Amino acid sequence: MNVDFPENLVQFTERFVTDEACAAYLTAVRWPDGAICAACGGRKGWPTSRGTYYCAGCQHQTSLTAGTILHQSHLPLRSWFLGMWLMCTQKTGLSAKGLQRELGLGSYKTAWLMLQKLRHAMVRVGREQLTGTVEVDETYLGGQESGVGGRELVGKSLVAMAVELEGKKVGRIRLRHVPDASGQSLVGFITDTVAKGAEVHTDDWNGYNRVGEAGYRHRVTPVLGDPKRALKHFPHVHLVASLLKRWLGATHQGRVTGKHLQRYLDEYAFRFNRRRSEHVGKLFHRLVEQLVLRQAKTYLEITRTK
Ligand SMILES: [Zn+2]
Repeated sequence: MNVDFPENLVQFTERFVTDEACAAYLTAVRWPDGAICAACGGRKGWPTSRGTYYCAGCQHQTSLTAGTILHQSHLPLRSWFLGMWLMCTQKTGLSAKGLQRELGLGSYKTAWLMLQKLRHAMVRVGREQLTGTVEVDETYLGGQESGVGGRELVGKSLVAMAVELEGKKVGRIRLRHVPDASGQSLVGFITDTVAKGAEVHTDDWNGYNRVGEAGYRHRVTPVLGDPKRALKHFPHVHLVASLLKRWLGATHQGRVTGKHLQRYLDEYAFRFNRRRSEHVGKLFHRLVEQLVLRQAKTYLEITRTK
């Protein structure tokens, strides 16, 4: 990808002054080798403020947003760009209330929906699986923790976590809202997110019994229901769990419901996995890139989506 991205707030504000400028960026991301008219294949034209690419040859307008989350949005491209910039560059992201305030949006619902759509774009299709050594554990969100070691779910959401180790440090992470701590849920999560042959390190919960059979080197460290042992032997997943809880508590006041939790987990993992990016603008660019590659979702689809 050879598209220049804005590296900081000054470059962002200087560049995206008009909807045409935003459309030009979408054009460049969608066609890195130059725009092509969908009707005649012509290569001469320009982006318009309506989010289309206008062909000088046949006057056909190719939509830049068809099939993306921006399709048929009543918000101007500039608002979307600013929303994406804020979401990517603020270390802790932002709440729907915060976004509504920053963009001067009329309704909370509009702001909330924009964030949900952007979160949807944050999951890369066909992203790589974790490799090497991966710590896997689960954590509860919301409600009160009941008896230590018990895995009963009462008014709480269970999140499966996979953390790739880079030496002694935390590498990439994957998070999934799972219905329960059964083998089907947990081993299913591992199968989807960790490459076969990797070393998977878990505690002795029976939900992990079939990890070895699923094609992994399974290292088991019993924690015997002792939180101190759990912290000692699984420091990386525990660090991620506590950062995740802090984020949900601080930025979203812990008001995330189970139905929408996965989207928040996707946002958290997106930012976490790019935390060492040199330029804040790189995240923004990555999000725009993923956005033009993802299928559109309607409001109904999003509110129904878990
Ligand atoms: Zn044309």
